[in-house]
Amino acid sequence: MAMLEVKNLSTEFYTENGAVRAVRDVTLHVEKGEVLGIVGESGSGKSQTMFTVMGLLAGNGKVTTGSIKLNGEEISPLNFASEKEYTQKMDSIRGNDMAMIFQDPMTFLNPVLKIKTQLIEPIMNHNPNISKSEAVERGIELMRKVGIPSPETRIDQYPFQFSGGMRQRIIIAIALACNPKVIIADEPTTALDVTIQAQVLELIASLKDEIDSSIIMITHDLGVVASICDRIAIMYGGKIVEEGTTDEIFYNPQHPYTKGLLSCVSNPEEKERKELKPIPGSPPDLLNIENNCPFKDRCENAMKVCAMGLPEAVELTSTHKYTCWLSHPYAKKGA
Ligand code: SF4
Repeated sequence: MAMLEVKNLSTEFYTENGAVRAVRDVTLHVEKGEVLGIVGESGSGKSQTMFTVMGLLAGNGKVTTGSIKLNGEEISPLNFASEKEYTQKMDSIRGNDMAMIFQDPMTFLNPVLKIKTQLIEPIMNHNPNISKSEAVERGIELMRKVGIPSPETRIDQYPFQFSGGMRQRIIIAIALACNPKVIIADEPTTALDVTIQAQVLELIASLKDEIDSSIIMITHDLGVVASICDRIAIMYGGKIVEEGTTDEIFYNPQHPYTKGLLSCVSNPEEKERKELKPIPGSPPDLLNIENNCPFKDRCENAMKVCAMGLPEAVELTSTHKYTCWLSHPYAKKGA
């Protein structure tokens, strides 16, 4: 059974100009101990999909369809009789069963509280029988696990006394505090410089083998997920346009958007340097977006049919599928 299973999930944000359809009929899952990458440009809906799962939508956001199951238990807001019931449920799940690592550690950490306070709070909240000294011991152990030197003394320091990379390690330690079943990392390396990014990715990759949790890695950079993800879902215009194992996505991409993303990634192992090609144009406006191919205005293969609707997904293997008219018999006739 999947640890997290999302089916036909749609989320809209209501603005004075109309409904922004940020998440459109998204279906995905992550197995126990698996690392899933969700990749797409800003505004593709990847973060909003996971904010919906975590119950962290902005006030004008609403789930309109779909199911969200955590370890088999339905947690979609549509399944609860009242907002209060849903909030209580999600308060008990967040931090405990599902945790999120945010992009910018400085906005997540409270600058005027010692690391000790911020680290032991979730441990004590979710383990009512634990003593404060036991929680501090657990905090020190977590700091050691994420590679922070001298954790016994550093636990008494404030966030400003840590570098950006070390602060992100603390965020990861807080996420691990209650052994969550699912960890969602939202662009965890974006705010860091390149060498520190590599260290944090290495840390996540090493934790992957040590902990039991499933990890969902949200990123705009395919290069970031290559070394640590088992499977990858590519999002565009609020939809998943292709998904597959990491090898399937890197060695046999099918959707023109996936191919476009790959042409923006350099491969240091290639003997000849290829020219990096950005994808021309910009992502679609999700305000009142229609149900046709969201990539049609940027796709060099676009046909008339691409503006008329979306085909059924093509399943190349049990793990690899994509949605594009190019594989449809009509396309070959130049529809
Ligand atoms: Fe391009 Fe059409 Fe495929 Fe969309 S459906 S990616 S526009 S070929």
